[in-house]
Amino acid sequence: MLMLCAKYGKIETIDMTPAIIAHYHEIALKGRNREMFERQLVENIRWAVRDVGGARVQRMSGRIAIRTANAQTQQTDLVQITDALTRVFGIANILIGHEVRQEYAALAEDVVRVMTETIAASQGSTAITSFCVRVKRGNKQYPKNSMELERELGAAIVDATGLAVNLGHPDCTVYVEIVERTAFVFTRKLLGPGGLPVGVSGRVLCLISSGFDSPVAAWKLMRRGCIVDFVHFHSYPYTSDASLRNVEEIVGVLQRWQQACGELYSIPLIEYQKQVMMHAPSALRVLLYRRMMFRIAEQIAKRRGMGALVTGESVGQVASQTIPNIAAVEAVVDLPVLRPLIGEDKQDIIAQAERIGTAEYSARPYDDCCSLFTPEHPATRARSEELDAAEAPLDAKEWVTRLLAVPPAAS
Ligand code: ATP
Ligand code: MG
Repeated sequence: MLMLCAKYGKIETIDMTPAIIAHYHEIALKGRNREMFERQLVENIRWAVRDVGGARVQRMSGRIAIRTANAQTQQTDLVQITDALTRVFGIANILIGHEVRQEYAALAEDVVRVMTETIAASQGSTAITSFCVRVKRGNKQYPKNSMELERELGAAIVDATGLAVNLGHPDCTVYVEIVERTAFVFTRKLLGPGGLPVGVSGRVLCLISSGFDSPVAAWKLMRRGCIVDFVHFHSYPYTSDASLRNVEEIVGVLQRWQQACGELYSIPLIEYQKQVMMHAPSALRVLLYRRMMFRIAEQIAKRRGMGALVTGESVGQVASQTIPNIAAVEAVVDLPVLRPLIGEDKQDIIAQAERIGTAEYSARPYDDCCSLFTPEHPATRARSEELDAAEAPLDAKEWVTRLLAVPPAAS
């Protein structure tokens, strides 16, 4: 029985337990680090596959096995699990196949069966004519070593199917893993998202707008193992309710990459913006809004144990993002401000947003609070003292307290 899955290729069903193995890179995993990394990764995978009835996640000597118990829904379960794993950071690659018997004669028989089914599923333009076998032996007590296994299992496949061995560019690589007291055979391998499991690098707070940049910046920190919380500043009712919903949708997409760990704080900035409009030079407006955002974000971060702020800034992208302006804005906070996109081009950022899944929302033409009331000639070389002087009549500290006390609007 075969099923065609548009995204992951044909998945064959045979009466063996379907299994998936997630591998992670072991670089930098030393001592207690490794224990924490593995525990967090298992927890995150369990969360990611929680909706797949009967999926069991098990840590097995340097890899993580996911098996499905429900015979009726094996096919859809495999596709769903695979899809979920492509969004779990820390996974370097994903192998999809079956658990088989470990004893050599039975193993060879099972490997040949899996290969026969795989060939049958590959008719037409994807027909398999060559193969190679790659063996990983986690269990060093196994009577044959990896090279012997590759040679002997390869010979068994040639005998049974007549396929040619091609070690350089095979149509199909058969991955065999001997792990503890069991064995696995896989004919499909996908790249995982890499990085570190979300949760091993602490919490950060991302200033998020509905533009392309800040969602990508948040994603990059998740990929380095951070739980990312979000703060969005809006000018409701001057900006629409739909624009707030749009930010929530973007956060919803990002949450799928971090097992829904983060929170979104939505802060109304409009009353402060009005003060800035009335009392400060127009060229400094955006920088003054941004300073207030940083101050408020810092307060939230300090109260909730987030160790850094994150923005989507990149040098020179817009007037507010020149080096002097970046420096003059960040002078009001003492938490580190992380800017993972600082040296990236817009086109590359948009391409990443497309892969992450936020681009379609960021492409919608909603107003951001900073695009309201923007002056024709914004300052490009502001100095911190200049912004301090412009803020003097505004009582910025008082505004931080006031804006933080306002309950989130329009949600
Ligand atoms: P983005 O595409 O992320 O909106 P941008 O190119 O539009 O970035 P700016 O609008 O200058 O750049 O914003 C720079 C950074 O300031 C953003 O990446 C984001 O981190 C933060 N920021 C801007 N507007 C908001 C907002 N309304 N709420 C929270 N953070 C914001
Ligand atoms: Mg923006």
